[in-house]
Amino acid sequence: MDHKVPRSCLPTGIALLHNPQLNKGTAFTGAERDALGLHGLLPPRTCTLADQVSRVMENFQRKSSDLERYIQLIALQDRNETLFYRVVVDNPELTLPILYTPTVGEACQKYGHIYRQSRGMFISCEDRGRIARVLANWPTRNVRVIVVTDGERILGLGDLGANGMGIPIGKLTLYTACGGVDPDVCLPVTIDVGTENASLLQDRLYLGLPRQRVRGDEYHALLDEFITAANMLFPGVLIQFEDFATANAFRLLEEYRDRVLCFNDDIQGTGAVALAGLLTAARVQGNRLRDHRVLFFGAGEAAVGIGRMVIMEMQEQGLSADEAEQRCWFMDSQGLITRSRQDLPPHKRQLARDCLPIKLLPDAIGELKPTAIVGVSGQSGAFSQEAIAALARHNERPVIFALSNPTSKSECTAEQAYGWTGGRCIFAAGSPFPPVAVGEKTLHTGQGNNAYIFPGMGLGVLVSRAKCVTDRMFTAAARTLSSLVSDADLAAGRIYPKFDRIRDVSARIAVAVAEIAFEGRLTDLDRPDDLSAAIQEAMYEPRYRSYV
Ligand code: NAD
Repeated sequence: MDHKVPRSCLPTGIALLHNPQLNKGTAFTGAERDALGLHGLLPPRTCTLADQVSRVMENFQRKSSDLERYIQLIALQDRNETLFYRVVVDNPELTLPILYTPTVGEACQKYGHIYRQSRGMFISCEDRGRIARVLANWPTRNVRVIVVTDGERILGLGDLGANGMGIPIGKLTLYTACGGVDPDVCLPVTIDVGTENASLLQDRLYLGLPRQRVRGDEYHALLDEFITAANMLFPGVLIQFEDFATANAFRLLEEYRDRVLCFNDDIQGTGAVALAGLLTAARVQGNRLRDHRVLFFGAGEAAVGIGRMVIMEMQEQGLSADEAEQRCWFMDSQGLITRSRQDLPPHKRQLARDCLPIKLLPDAIGELKPTAIVGVSGQSGAFSQEAIAALARHNERPVIFALSNPTSKSECTAEQAYGWTGGRCIFAAGSPFPPVAVGEKTLHTGQGNNAYIFPGMGLGVLVSRAKCVTDRMFTAAARTLSSLVSDADLAAGRIYPKFDRIRDVSARIAVAVAEIAFEGRLTDLDRPDDLSAAIQEAMYEPRYRSYV
C-alpha cells in the first residue's frame, strides 16, 4: 500500500471520485472498487493512466480553440490532479502554451465568463485586519510556495484586477509540472484591491471588487499584513511576486528580499532567462558576454531585471562594474535614458548613461552599435525593418530578442527578424513562434520563457531550505540553462533547450541553486552527499498510488 492518506481516512464512493487529489477515475482497479464502494459509479472497464492520457489528448486536439483547451485542462485539474499533471508532464510543448502564456492571458481577460470553480485564495482590501484568519481557512498548513499577484499588470495586458488569478494558478502548475514541486504545498493567491479597468468595472460577470484600486499607505499596509500573516501561518514559505505594476514590484522586492524568502519573477526570473539566451548567443558567435553591447528597448521590470543580471555576469567575466554598465543602454518611450533626463523614476535612474539624447531606435542603433537588442516594451512592431537593418549592418550575427508578451505585443515576429537579416540573426521571443524556413533550413525560434527558470529555482530553494533568494542563484541558474543547450539545438536555431527536457533542466537548475545556498551558508541544513539524487528524490511524479 502506498498512499499519503491513511486508509481509515480515505473517502469512499462518490466522495472519493469528487476528491481531485485522490481520484483515479476509470483507473480504479477491481480490488479498489470492491474496497472503496465504487462499483456502479464508474464504467466497468479499468483503464491505465496511459489510456486516460490518450483520451484527454484526443479531446484536447479536437477542441476548436485554445481557450477551450484551457477550460478542458483546468476542469481536469479540478477533477483528477494526477491525470492532469501526467498529461502536462508528458505533453509540455502542447499544454504549457495553453496553461501559461499566451493562452492564460485570454483566460484571465475572460475569467469571470469562464469561471467554474474556485482555486487558490482571494484576499481583498476588505480583509484588512483579519488576513491571518482568512489564510487559516486554507485546508492545510503545509504550504511551502505562494505565488501572489494583485492583478495590476497581467502579462502585457494591463490591469485585470481579480481576473489575474489565472497567473498564480498557471505559475504554480508549472512549479509542479516542470519543477516537480508537490502540488499539495502550493498556494495561488490574488490580492484584490480593486481595478482601474473600466470594461471590467462595467462587466456584470466580473468577480472582483467593483471599485477603484486602493493605493498608497492603505495598499502597503494590506500587503505587509499579508506577507506577515503568510509567514506566521506557513513559516519559511517562499513567496513569488508576480505581475505587480512596476513601482509596486520594485518596492515589494526591495522591502522584503532581505526579510522573508521571496523573489520577483518578472524582474529576477526574466533576468535569468534572458541572460541564459545571451550567454548562448555569445557561444554561437564564439565570444563571451563581456564582448557584447546590449541595447534594451523598454526600461521597466523586465529591462531592469535583465540589465542587472547581464551586468553581474559581465563582472563575473572580468569587467569592472563601470565597464559592464557602459555596455548596456536602455530606451523608453522618450528615447535613450540619459543622465541629462529630469524626472526619471527611481528604477530608471540606475539605467541612465552619459550618451546623446537619441529619440528613435534606428538612430540609437546607428550611434551605439549594439550587438544585441532586447525588446521589453510591450510595443508591437517596435523593431522595424529599418531598426533591424541598422543592427544587421554592423553585426555578422545580430542578436534580436523580442520578449514582449503576448504574441500580439512582440516587437517583431520571428519571420520578420530572420527575413530582414537574411537569416543571420539569433532570435528569441517571449511567446512561441512557429518555425521559419530560411533557404534550405528550418529555424526553430527560441522562447525566452520564464518557466525555464522559476520551477527549478523554487525546487532548489525548497530542497536546500534556503533562507533567502539571491541574485547569484539566478545567474547560476542562467549559466546552467545555457550549458544545457546542445549543439543539435544550436544547429536548429534554438538557443534554449527543447521544452520536452524541462524536468531535467529544472532538476539541474535546482542543483545549481541549492549549491549556492549550501556554499553561502544560507541554510541550516547540511549538504546531502549526493545533492543531485536528493533533488531527484524530492520531485513529485504524477502516478497513481495503490489504495488497497
Ligand atoms: P513594465 O511596464 O515594467 O515596462 C515596460 C517598459 O516599456 C517601460 O519602461 C516603458 O517606459 C517602456 N515603454 C513603453 N512604451 C514604450 C515605447 N513606445 N518605446 C520604448 N519603450 C516603451 O513591463 P515589464 O514587466 O518590463 O514587461 C515588458 C514586456 O516584457 C511585457 O510585454 C512582458 O510581457 C514582457 N516580458 C517578457 C518576459 C519573457 O519573455 N520571459 C518576461 C517578463 C516580461
